Amino acid sequence: MKVTLDVLWNGKTEFNESGSIGRNTCSISLLDLDGTKVMVDLGFPNLDRERLLSELASRNVTPEDIQLVLYTHLHPDHMGEPVLFPNALFVYHEAERAKGYLKKYRTMEVNGEYNVLPGGELDRGVAGPLRVLESPIRAIMTPGHTMGSMTILVDIEEETWALAGDAVLSEEDFRAMEPAHISMDKEMARKAMERIGTLADVIVPGHGPTFKV
Ligand SMILES: [Zn+2]
Repeated sequence: MKVTLDVLWNGKTEFNESGSIGRNTCSISLLDLDGTKVMVDLGFPNLDRERLLSELASRNVTPEDIQLVLYTHLHPDHMGEPVLFPNALFVYHEAERAKGYLKKYRTMEVNGEYNVLPGGELDRGVAGPLRVLESPIRAIMTPGHTMGSMTILVDIEEETWALAGDAVLSEEDFRAMEPAHISMDKEMARKAMERIGTLADVIVPGHGPTFKV
């Protein structure tokens, strides 16, 4: 299986003049697994639309080409606009308690870890050590920020990349082992960060530049 990973952009948090959190854009990635196009997170509805479409167009990818959208979690700054991707299956953990509107689209709720297979199928319910699995794209459970937070691991040559969503907000938070301040369960979130640190060589955090572990 041949996989490529293209981080369309790294998320960042912008602050208002008053110091409060302003616009909050998440990291968005495009994967290709033997020709199957997969996106991880979609950014902010409306605000990120033009940028997202132009980033895809510059890679000769149309929204219709996207077969899978893997959500790290369902906060608004990650959910984007499913309506833009008519052929995609939207995958998220059932603990995310998807808002009704997402269910208008083709969705799959998972309740465990899964592998992504060529053609866009998911191999779910696989028990046992992750490292023996065949697929170069795997989703692991990293709850804490939200109860259904998933991290997507991608093997690129000799390195494992973690598309962590807000399980790792930024390198700074990771170095301090300090979970996002908006975390449903901080202790779980800390354990999730530790797990990501043991599995990954490179981390694409939800809201910061990519960094090496
Ligand atoms: Zn979040």
